[in-house]
Amino acid sequence: EGARAVTGIDDLPIRDELRGKSPYGAPQLDVPVQLNTNENPYPLPEPLVERIAQRVAEAARGLNRYPDRDAVELRTELARYLTRTAGHEVSRANVWAANGSNEVIQQLLQTFGGPGRSAIGFEPSYSMHGLIARGTGTEWISGPRREDFTIDLDAAAAAIAEHRPDVVFITSPNNPTGTAVQAGTVLALYEAAQAAKPSLVVVDEAYVEFSHGPSLLPLIEGRPNLVVSRTMSKAFGAAGLRLGYLAAHPAVVDAVQLVRLPYHLSAVTQATALAALEHTDTLLGYVEQLKRERDRLVTDLRAIGWEVTESDANFVQFGRFADSHEAWQKILDRGVLVRDNQVPGWLRVTAGTPDENDAFLDAVRELKKEYD
Ligand code: PMP
Repeated sequence: EGARAVTGIDDLPIRDELRGKSPYGAPQLDVPVQLNTNENPYPLPEPLVERIAQRVAEAARGLNRYPDRDAVELRTELARYLTRTAGHEVSRANVWAANGSNEVIQQLLQTFGGPGRSAIGFEPSYSMHGLIARGTGTEWISGPRREDFTIDLDAAAAAIAEHRPDVVFITSPNNPTGTAVQAGTVLALYEAAQAAKPSLVVVDEAYVEFSHGPSLLPLIEGRPNLVVSRTMSKAFGAAGLRLGYLAAHPAVVDAVQLVRLPYHLSAVTQATALAALEHTDTLLGYVEQLKRERDRLVTDLRAIGWEVTESDANFVQFGRFADSHEAWQKILDRGVLVRDNQVPGWLRVTAGTPDENDAFLDAVRELKKEYD
């Protein structure tokens, strides 16, 4: 039937607010050195791979049944990990887990956001906060940041007072800039958010294990509207596992269960995550190595003559470029994939293995000569 045979998204009866939008799309290119999605470059150690196989085999024998809907054993172990590493005692009742922290964030927005409600983040920040807001029908408000990418407390508090959002995102360390947020700033924004609404404050700590400073987790004490979200995708080197979690007042854990799909966390996922948690110490050893490499990237980029934003994460924002997309392409032409997060003038590189980082530093050293 001639001309109208091709059906595109816009021919479908999709929701109006999705028309003309693009999905999350970090390029997955087949390039020798991939430093673009903040993954951990180290494969899981072989003894852990064997332990996963063992635990998954045990789980497989019970796959005719639905998994533990409340993931009791896993939440207990995650609570133990947080208590041990974050300087604050939490129990299973404080912890909830889902398929990646993206799903944790989605469940929070389904519970506390939604149609007629709004959420704010201080940008540039993690783009999925806004995208998941849109997907849940939550209005997205782009809050301000300073030129140096720190949060301007007065401006941020004023934006909260003006818009009275239902959900406030604070990403620490921030992606893509690497910037950590001080506890005092979080406390002041929490107070501003409670005075304005009250609203839920979500501290996204996806990268906190790489931080020079401590976790903000202890701040949940006595603050039922404060949630800390975490992931096993970065420090645990298990991005392929899809396991994220949150720590908060037990009432928040009860609340997200109103929207979670029944049996959302598969028995295979729970078994794999439990195996990984048994190997926490080895995996945190890799984190120490990556922190040293991250610091080396900062030092060497500056020595070459690039500007760098101070980083508490496993990646570094560098620049500045008159045309960052052109610079991204020139680095790619040298076999190294970094990330263009659309922050004008800046690109982001994930800390890889020492060899990968050397390849990256060689590429940007040549680029510097080309531009000078
Ligand atoms: N929060 C931040 C700040 C992130 O950068 C990411 C991953 N890029 C996530 C959350 C989501 O990670 P995951 O769903 O793999 O846990």
